[in-house]
Amino acid sequence: MRWWGWGEDGHAVALPPAAQSLLREELEADPEARRPAVAFDEVSLPDPQLPAAARERLAAAVGAEQLRDAREDRIAHAVGRSYPDLVRIRSGDASSAPDAVVLPASAEQVAAVLAACAEQRVAVIPFGGGTSVVGGVEPVRDGMSAAVSLDLSRLNSRVDVDRTSLTARLDAGLFGPEAERRLGAEGVTLGHFPQSFEYSTVGGWVATRSAGQASTGYGRIDELVEGVRCMTPAGEIGTRAVPASAAGPSTRELLVGSEGVLGVICEATVRVRPAPRFRRYEGWSFASFAEGCAAFRVMEQEEASADVNRLSDEDETRLTMAMASSGSRGEKLGRRYLRMRGHERGCIAILGFEGEEDDVERRRRRTAALLRAGGGISLGPRPGAAWLRSRYSGPYLRDELLDRRVMVETLETATSWANLESLHGAVAGALRKTLGERGTPTLVMCHVSHLYPSGASLYFTFLARQEDDAMAQWHAAKTAASEAIVAGGGTITHHHAIGRDHREWMRAEVGELGIELIRAAKERLDPAGIMNPGKLLP
Ligand SMILES: Cc1cc2nc3c(=O)[nH]c(=O)nc-3n(C[C@H](O)[C@H](O)[C@H](O)COP(=O)(O)OP(=O)(O)OC[C@H]3O[C@@H](n4cnc5c(N)ncnc54)[C@H](O)[C@@H]3O)c2cc1C
Repeated sequence: MRWWGWGEDGHAVALPPAAQSLLREELEADPEARRPAVAFDEVSLPDPQLPAAARERLAAAVGAEQLRDAREDRIAHAVGRSYPDLVRIRSGDASSAPDAVVLPASAEQVAAVLAACAEQRVAVIPFGGGTSVVGGVEPVRDGMSAAVSLDLSRLNSRVDVDRTSLTARLDAGLFGPEAERRLGAEGVTLGHFPQSFEYSTVGGWVATRSAGQASTGYGRIDELVEGVRCMTPAGEIGTRAVPASAAGPSTRELLVGSEGVLGVICEATVRVRPAPRFRRYEGWSFASFAEGCAAFRVMEQEEASADVNRLSDEDETRLTMAMASSGSRGEKLGRRYLRMRGHERGCIAILGFEGEEDDVERRRRRTAALLRAGGGISLGPRPGAAWLRSRYSGPYLRDELLDRRVMVETLETATSWANLESLHGAVAGALRKTLGERGTPTLVMCHVSHLYPSGASLYFTFLARQEDDAMAQWHAAKTAASEAIVAGGGTITHHHAIGRDHREWMRAEVGELGIELIRAAKERLDPAGIMNPGKLLP
């Protein structure tokens, strides 16, 4: 991954003319006003401070060549991939860089690294793909003598599939594409496809309770994990990979979502499914977001949801249409038809079904009947295929927008169906008000993308002209949205996790005693407090 953005060099995404005029008209931004990332040589970072004794112990644990403190290694592990991370790193600020990067190749080497760091009081920051958007991988020393980033990408050899039980033991450092490729070779899939799929890892998914784009159908990662193997400074803690258990409170649940503050997840046993032989993705239109939400609720509660279900609100639909517009005759006719049916300011939905062809067709027919009864109009397979093609392209576009001095940030929550619209309005309103008062008109868009019988997630994307003090602007927006989420009855995070950025709202999530309980577990497993300081706990 390039040090200042997403993906690899040469994978640029151009901003279509329609999007450029939208930036000009709605955000009063000047798409020509470029602010590219500084040159790599201009990035500044402090001198490494790893004490000699710690260096010696770590080199003995993983081999001298896997203990790295070259500029490129430290810069690549200085921040995650949130908007504020990218603002800082693009400006040349790598002040958070770790003192060194350590690359173990086995759980035993991880244990040796943790023992050395506990003895030498060196902070350890587990690093999977580094795609955290909540400050989860940024090194914080918190009184420690130094900080090392524990890059888990060499823990990537094991993919043991049990075809009979439909489970797989996976090493934590496997990246999404490699894990799926190797599972696919055995005829199965995990079905976990976060938008960051290309650059995130199995261990990162488990440590953050991640949700993929098809999680309504396949389940969130926390529903898919049967067992984990975790190395902590106090020793190894494993959980049995069994389909279900009544053995008291679940230690697996304690480790899943622990964000590297308790230990290092080295391996996970996950539920897999036969790889789908048939896919059908299609578009639907609703007259309004409220109508679409009501139809989605009925569909989910009737157990008729597709595997992928996304409903964009009016503003997200408008932007999506502008970006995809070809101006063709067919498109114009389609729009006229939707206008005639009262959908001129409507909302688009994408539904994706996967499995055996006859089963997909049967499910699809039932879902379609429910959506039609809820006011939906089928748009056929073309919008679905277009979404599937571009499902990972958003982050590349973000780099382009940052280049053009546009703030582009995302945040997410979940709440009950009864509260969904009210929370949608409250968060969008808080963002518009806060940024509007700073003189930066804002485009706030949202979609529903993970459905549960009792409620759904809301995923917001907002854009504004970037102020000179981009961090102050971001902080104001983030605080306003987070306060609105908590006051409005949502969770502070449905799938991005807590990290550094959501810590102050953790109390509202689990209460004071809840915090003390997690802290007690941390004190037992990590008595020296070396594991990912400054994250998860306020
Ligand atoms: C463009 C973009 C799109 C995204 N889309 C989604 C999405 O669709 N769904 C979603 O859920 N998230 C999404 N995310 C957030 C992020 O990708 C997820 O949180 C992902 O699970 C992180 O995986 P990673 O391997 O990159 O972990 P990292 O970012 O490296 O680490 C995340 C946290 O977990 C800890 N950690 C990592 N590995 C381990 C381990 N083996 N043991 C213990 N702790 C560990 C780290 O210390 C850190 O606190 C997105 C992020 C970006 C930038």
